[in-house]
Amino acid sequence: MTVTDVHTHHHHRRDAVINLAPGELPEPGFLYSSGVHPWDTLLPDDEIERRLEEVRRLSRLPEVVAIGEAGIDRLRGASMERQTGIFRRQADISEEAQKPMILHVVKAFPEIIRLKRELKPSQPWIVHGFRGKPELAAELLRAGFYISLGENFNQAAAAVIPPDRLFAETDESTLTIGEIAARLPHMPAATL
Ligand SMILES: [Zn+2]
Repeated sequence: MTVTDVHTHHHHRRDAVINLAPGELPEPGFLYSSGVHPWDTLLPDDEIERRLEEVRRLSRLPEVVAIGEAGIDRLRGASMERQTGIFRRQADISEEAQKPMILHVVKAFPEIIRLKRELKPSQPWIVHGFRGKPELAAELLRAGFYISLGENFNQAAAAVIPPDRLFAETDESTLTIGEIAARLPHMPAATL
């Protein structure tokens, strides 16, 4: 499957993975991802369980092609320990469903790299909205991650990402995916 926009919050886009907000349902003819965002990890346990169950249920639908956003954000959300626990549950769902993870990672790259080395997932883990430097991109690539770039990114980092590990995304941008891809040093060729 070829996807040109691996992560967007804009509904009704074709060739895009549309992020479902909690409680939203897929509409026929579109592709989606579903996950518990790190910022939502402060919710009470029963609400987290309800959301994880929703992600699990949605992950079985053919039009839900990825799990996420999920991840770890050191600057926002619950403690690192709680976020990591909720993330692990979603990594399990990703493996069960055999669908990739779309990752939101802020100041927690050592943690996410450690988790990937520990869990050895069969599914791609895609770091979305990457704005880091080339050294961090190289480290993520060595650990087997895929990287998705949006409106704002480091050009030198983009240059070190091989096309087959590179995705583009619109996220919340008002730019089109074509406009974002045109800013990249080479065309993304990674596919879900
Ligand atoms: Zn997003």
